[in-house]
Amino acid sequence: MLWSTWSPDEMNAEFRAHEAQIAELRNRQAVIVNEFEKANVAAGAGCRSTVEYVSGRFDVSRAVASDLTFVAGRLAQHRWIQGSLEAGEVGFDRAVAMLRLVDAGADRRTVEASCRLDLAGVGRLAASQRRVSRSDERSVFVDRFVSIQPTLDESSWRLTGQLPATDGQVVERALSSRGDEMRLLPGSESCTRGQRQADGLVAMAMDSLDRNSTDGGESRSGSSVSVFVDLDAAAGSGGESGAALEYGPRVGPAVLDEVLCTGSVQIVGLSGGRPVVTSAASRAIPAAIRRFVAHRDGGCVADGCTSRYRLQPHHVRRYADGGDHDPDDVETYCWFHHHVAIHQLGFRIDPDSPPKRRRLIRSATNTDPPHPH
Ligand SMILES: [Zn+2]
Ligand SMILES: [Zn+2]
Repeated sequence: MLWSTWSPDEMNAEFRAHEAQIAELRNRQAVIVNEFEKANVAAGAGCRSTVEYVSGRFDVSRAVASDLTFVAGRLAQHRWIQGSLEAGEVGFDRAVAMLRLVDAGADRRTVEASCRLDLAGVGRLAASQRRVSRSDERSVFVDRFVSIQPTLDESSWRLTGQLPATDGQVVERALSSRGDEMRLLPGSESCTRGQRQADGLVAMAMDSLDRNSTDGGESRSGSSVSVFVDLDAAAGSGGESGAALEYGPRVGPAVLDEVLCTGSVQIVGLSGGRPVVTSAASRAIPAAIRRFVAHRDGGCVADGCTSRYRLQPHHVRRYADGGDHDPDDVETYCWFHHHVAIHQLGFRIDPDSPPKRRRLIRSATNTDPPHPH
């Protein structure tokens, strides 16, 4: 018979008949695979699993081997599905989908009703039915972790982890609401959601440290550090060479500037790798000046900012450029405007803007010079 003379109905009937034969044959193969499992044939052949044995030995795809192995033990437990398969009422793939639905916890009525759905629909139904068992829950809880590690050159830290569903939601909500608080601040529109959440996490960490500290609410963000400055290199590159913090990560000029605003610093000048100058450890901005400036400004002086979160003193003229601790050279900014906008994003303070209504402008010189090679 010529194929071209077949009517669509005849072709459909022929296709369906072949599909029924395939179902019958797969069913018989599944019975054999079940015997493989019982006799532990895979291990005897040096394979890690029956799936590996079947796909390797008989040259079938892993998907087929894994479907066969999946239905092998289950068909006998669910004779009504096996019966439909043997009677040619359902195809092999349909039987696999029905058994996966049973596995997900669906009752017989739901499985029978699933015959109205296509195979993709049955797959989605199975996903929606899947119940998390007590032992699933426990293993998710056991697997929880957070890891925070410096990268090799210690210039940044990488954070990864895994949390049980509800704990993850709590953390996600806290990070995004903390991040959203910063979205309202001028200068923050250039930050991505991920960047705002990173800032939110740091803010939460600082709050937590403050809660446990005894120094009466003084910001702990300015920690006490020793900064090693290579005077030889600094002389050759205008002080942009970066400095090393004692026991800490390598930091660049932006962080060093910020430490000079908020931290207590001991500066150790190195020449030829040996310390030649050592300053006394001191709060970079003396406490009396800090208090005076905070009182004078009464809050963040960025135009339009009403935040009182972690108010910090900032050198209007970079300390490295000859600015000093004179109150006229120091202004108060909230943590976001000081840490994120000025020191991290490189915003400059518009010198023509009125005091207490300072405009922050993108610095043209903020971009790094191109690499020499
Ligand atoms: Zn500053
Ligand atoms: Zn502010």
